[in-house]
Amino acid sequence: MSGGLFQIAEPGESQIKEACTGRVVGIDLGTTNSLVATVRAGTPECLAVDDEGGRLLPSVVEYFADHTIVGKRALTDAAANPIDTIVSVKRFMGRGPGDVETTRRFTPYRFASKSGPLIRFAVAGREVTPIEVSAEILRVLRTQAEVALGGVLDGVVITVPAYFDDAQRQATRDAGRLAGLHVLRLLNEPTAAALAYGLDKKSQGTFAVYDLGGGTFDISILKLEEGVFQVKATGGDTALGGDDFDRALAELVVQRSGRAPDSPTAQRELLDACRAAKHRLTRESATEILPGVRIAREEFDEAIAPILTRTAAACRRAIKDAELTPETLDGVILVGGATRVPAVRAFVEKIFKQKPLFDLDPDQVVALGAAVQADLLAGAGPQAGNDVLLLDVIPLSLGLEMMGGVVEKIIPRNWTIPTRAQQTFTTYADGQTGFDLHVVQGERESVADCRSLARFQLKGIPPMPAGMARLDVTFLVDADGILQVTAHEQTTGQEAVIEVTPSYGLSAEEIEQMLLDSYQHADSDVKTRLLIDARVEADRILSAIRGALVADGRLLEPEERAPIEQAIAALQSARDGIDRHAIRSAIESLDHASQSFAQRRMDTSLQHAVAGRRISEVEQKLE
Ligand code: ADP
Ligand code: MG
Repeated sequence: MSGGLFQIAEPGESQIKEACTGRVVGIDLGTTNSLVATVRAGTPECLAVDDEGGRLLPSVVEYFADHTIVGKRALTDAAANPIDTIVSVKRFMGRGPGDVETTRRFTPYRFASKSGPLIRFAVAGREVTPIEVSAEILRVLRTQAEVALGGVLDGVVITVPAYFDDAQRQATRDAGRLAGLHVLRLLNEPTAAALAYGLDKKSQGTFAVYDLGGGTFDISILKLEEGVFQVKATGGDTALGGDDFDRALAELVVQRSGRAPDSPTAQRELLDACRAAKHRLTRESATEILPGVRIAREEFDEAIAPILTRTAAACRRAIKDAELTPETLDGVILVGGATRVPAVRAFVEKIFKQKPLFDLDPDQVVALGAAVQADLLAGAGPQAGNDVLLLDVIPLSLGLEMMGGVVEKIIPRNWTIPTRAQQTFTTYADGQTGFDLHVVQGERESVADCRSLARFQLKGIPPMPAGMARLDVTFLVDADGILQVTAHEQTTGQEAVIEVTPSYGLSAEEIEQMLLDSYQHADSDVKTRLLIDARVEADRILSAIRGALVADGRLLEPEERAPIEQAIAALQSARDGIDRHAIRSAIESLDHASQSFAQRRMDTSLQHAVAGRRISEVEQKLE
């Protein structure tokens, strides 16, 4: 996999959006731990996230009926209350219940739905999406940062793995928004690490980023050209990390002591003891894990060797994908808590044939780089006192009302502005001489659940049969967030334009609420939409066939007409019901029943055309 051009400063960024005092931070929203960092006096530093001054916030959220606990205490409780405690939520971002990543993994907590676009966890009597769980983590980071910086945050940069797809990135942005954060940009984790090391100051180069976290391993190859990092290759293993070291050590202890833990609790305790011992072994040459069971660092190194070997294949492949050799790399960066282990460092040095960079704390390096990026963005404002930031995305989708009161999204939320999108529509009814355009904002499928922004009309189109007119609708959002909607009918050249300010009058809370509603209703919304679409289609077909029977009924013998009438009645009754599959199959039956009638009409219509009269004109007059 490759791609993802990342620019330090984009040309479009000079647009001033919103004045601010530049209180910005970088956030590493990790699978195991999350951190927040800011640049002070030119140097990035991680901020305390708990009362003891710790900088790592375990990415764990424990749910109760009326509140949540995030971080260390939630992690401690996880063993006792596994069902209501969500760990490793990052693995589920942007995923549906049917995704491999979801089904493959054993999780103690419960999924609320088996279908639909979003995963939902059933916790403490309610349902939450991964986006909401992540927002809880982000809220804690936000509060801590606001205390440390003495005021409301103006903007954040959140990091994501380089391999995250659109849905996963979208989900991360939404989590930020739900937490009341102004997400300036998402930044690839390896790129953040490179920024933390100041590698962007070099003119060019290629770098490998070896990231071994708690449960994931990522290898990325970055190419720097004129201040722009490009991800040339990514690879890794989503089920490999420092937690596997804990398990390897536990096995060693069981072997040595001859005693296996006899309950889930005992097993948990053993793993916790092994993790603590693993951390000690980074500094000490031997340590006691259980009374009388002492493990030397060499023994630990031997136990984890097979795990390290598994990372080597992915590294070699990534180097090859990037069309490089280890010798041509200009640097290797260590990221992730597990790279603290001396054996890991030695191993990386062997694969890449050079000493890796590890001057910066490997669990902080991504957050530090995100802070550098946030600082660059906040300072990137032009001359104007550089206290400016840009509101760079569309907070809620923009769309048009369609027949049946459903919304067609023209510009999806989170698109970077300025932006432009166009879609072509046509007439629903014969002889329609104008279009009613209704511009709405929101994530729901039904117009009634969205926010109305503007209504306008395009008139002066000569009567044509349904489906003949071609209406191009263009949505243009400029750098100031102003939306301009242009409707242009192709055959006549008729045009109408309207301007609106989309987010005008909506508070951050209202935007949050609209997003939340859309997650809660995502499943039922899609079903409703499909039903409405089927009904609209049924109405169109019913009206067309009824019109045709009036116009050309004489072409049919009574016994030919009866099955068509029956199919019409069947479709009408299905249409009035709520089963979209029934409507679809009734449409098919009617289609089938009226096939020869349609054929005969076509032949006649050809004769009419010769006679200078179009069948559609006949239909129009009759309606
Ligand atoms: P993630 O990116 O998944 O959020 P981190 O980068 O925070 O994860 O890494 C967490 C892992 O690093 C855990 O397995 C933890 O035990 C391990 N780790 C942290 N500190 C040390 C240390 N001093 N020695 C060995 N492993 C460590
Ligand atoms: Mg990480």
